[in-house]
Amino acid sequence: MSKNYLKLQFYSYPRNQAFARDAVAAFCLELNPSLSDISDVKTAVSEAVTNCTVHAYKDNCGMVTVECEIEDNKLHIKVSDQGAGIADIKKAVQPFYTSLPSDERSGMGFTIMQTFMDEFNVESVKGEGTVVYMSKSFKAEVENA
Ligand code: ATP
Ligand code: MG
Repeated sequence: MSKNYLKLQFYSYPRNQAFARDAVAAFCLELNPSLSDISDVKTAVSEAVTNCTVHAYKDNCGMVTVECEIEDNKLHIKVSDQGAGIADIKKAVQPFYTSLPSDERSGMGFTIMQTFMDEFNVESVKGEGTVVYMSKSFKAEVENA
């Protein structure tokens, strides 16, 4: 039985994105992830944190919180901001939907998070902020292999 918890708080500067995804990747090492699992988690965290920078705090800078919990062989990740919020979540999670087409955004961030993680959910209140939940199960270590 294994349980662990990590909380990161940082400003939404783009230069903190690599720090956040690498910290989460390091945190999940105790689950003996495959390289592909690590890559999936890093990609999903990157997309969620980038959204905080680009959308939540579009014209300013604000606090991003990344929380991770390990429970048995499962990693739970929660990425929250207190920024712009999302008016229509159903529309926002559609593949190729972006509110910033002029910035050459492809509108694939949420789709990537859903594809690379096992569970995904987003809650948001316009003007108050957004919380993205993701989780991934890692294969239990094979003993005496
Ligand atoms: P890409 O991720 O491909 O660069 P994108 O960021 O526009 O493009 P998604 O990540 O799928 O695409 O997000 C879809 C839309 O949801 C965004 O265009 C934006 O309107 C909204 N959104 C996503 N995350 C947030 C957030 N944290 N705060 C406010 N709005 C958000
Ligand atoms: Mg995005």
